[in-house]
Amino acid sequence: MSTTERPRILVVGGGYVGLYAARRILKKMRYGEATVTVVDPRSYMTYQPFLPEAAAGSISPRHVVVPLRRVLPKAEVLTGRVSTIDQDRKVAVIQPLVGEAYELPFDYLVVALGAVSRTFPIPGLAENGIGMKGIEEAIGLRNHVLEQLDKADSTTDEEIRRKALTFVFVGGGFAGAETIGEVEDMARDAAKYYPNVKREDMRFILVDAADKILPEVGPKLGQWGLEHLQKRGVEVYLKTSMDSCIDGHVVLKNGLEVDSSTIVWTAGVKPNPALARFGLPLGPRGHVDTAATLQVQGTDYIWAAGDNAQVPDLAVGEGAWCPPNAQHALRQAKVLGDNVISGMRGFPQKEYKHANKGAVAGLGLHKGVAMIVLGKMKIKLRGRLAWYMHRGYHGMAMPTFNRKIRVLADWTLGMFLKREVVSLGAIENPREEFYEAASPVSAAKPAPVEKAKAS
Ligand SMILES: Cc1cc2nc3c(=O)[nH]c(=O)nc-3n(C[C@H](O)[C@H](O)[C@H](O)COP(=O)(O)OP(=O)(O)OC[C@H]3O[C@@H](n4cnc5c(N)ncnc54)[C@H](O)[C@@H]3O)c2cc1C
Repeated sequence: MSTTERPRILVVGGGYVGLYAARRILKKMRYGEATVTVVDPRSYMTYQPFLPEAAAGSISPRHVVVPLRRVLPKAEVLTGRVSTIDQDRKVAVIQPLVGEAYELPFDYLVVALGAVSRTFPIPGLAENGIGMKGIEEAIGLRNHVLEQLDKADSTTDEEIRRKALTFVFVGGGFAGAETIGEVEDMARDAAKYYPNVKREDMRFILVDAADKILPEVGPKLGQWGLEHLQKRGVEVYLKTSMDSCIDGHVVLKNGLEVDSSTIVWTAGVKPNPALARFGLPLGPRGHVDTAATLQVQGTDYIWAAGDNAQVPDLAVGEGAWCPPNAQHALRQAKVLGDNVISGMRGFPQKEYKHANKGAVAGLGLHKGVAMIVLGKMKIKLRGRLAWYMHRGYHGMAMPTFNRKIRVLADWTLGMFLKREVVSLGAIENPREEFYEAASPVSAAKPAPVEKAKAS
């Protein structure tokens, strides 16, 4: 890392907020005014709204991520984790991918660690659940689902077959409803290539503790989304939760019991628990307590935004906080970037205020819901038109021209070529076959392949 005499702006996290804030700072900064350092355990930013489409194979997984070193050529990008912050000495402890941890001094700090899956101590969940926060999970889910079809098509054991063809999704917010919508669409479409698996042999179950799904698009569209999924054969159980899923035996609070090889957990997020080691003021649910200027309360050199921050929602009013979504993360990042520059130059800070512009959700090919807020008017769309809005909005919002074009190319190819249904589950253990071929009989077990570290 560089050891210049310039002040260092340390950006912790290279997701939505980290990437956009760093870009903004670099754009507004004078030549040589500061060193911008971005630290993230992943070398790329993930465009999370496209994870369900990546899981369904509509977009290539590589096109859903944005390589940080490529889009931030003027920043110093370090691949590792920030484990602690010492505010008195203004140093951060960096744990790189390999080797010893080291200290990195900073003058200004941006905290953008995002959120992690919100889980509960449910027996069997840690061993059997699949999350949906990163591209690794989206690729894993796709391979896993197609592998279940391979298994079901090739077995004579009815019990194995039923378990393989039962898919349980817990959590019906944006992430859950979009993921089940996309995966169900893909799996039932793929059934045509499996002579022993019919579309109706598959059982898709969506469970939510609330009395509705898709709260982000409002009650009417949420209800439409629910009925739409039901019409497609998805069993939806509301006001209930999962009690356990030991060895894939799912037990719901409402008494339903099923065996399933696929349990997808999308029951919300919570602020990154690593924040607890940063010594920053936290709100009741673990978010960094942040003023409307995005400055962390009680500091004038630390800013926070996005899913890990509790930012007052001035557009809604007293006591409201901005919900954790990309719409806010993106806009907060820009204000934050400007405020870091102002802070560095001794200028006043600007407050963040943004009125909700609505929400769009895709529920599989040509299906979706969209709520667009225009002043006091709320335009509600559903079906194909809403799906076009969903694709149009996210296609435009995807960072960088390069990625926009790649995503557009994937969609265009998808219109003319049939959906890809190959499962590459073996990709998770690429050395297995070579090990069997190369190892002497008495050899030790193969070294585990290093997996991508989750946040
Ligand atoms: C499946 C899914 C679908 C979604 N769909 C929508 C949608 O349709 N519309 C919408 O508005 N929002 C959507 N969201 C929410 C949206 O993606 C998030 O609100 C947004 O990504 C938040 O940005 P962020 O920068 O706060 O966090 P992230 O983008 O999650 O970035 C956090 C970064 O911090 C890094 N990090 C973690 N720990 C450390 C550490 N110790 N040191 C350094 N770096 C660290 C992580 O690797 C990550 O890169 C969706 C989310 C998911 C999961």
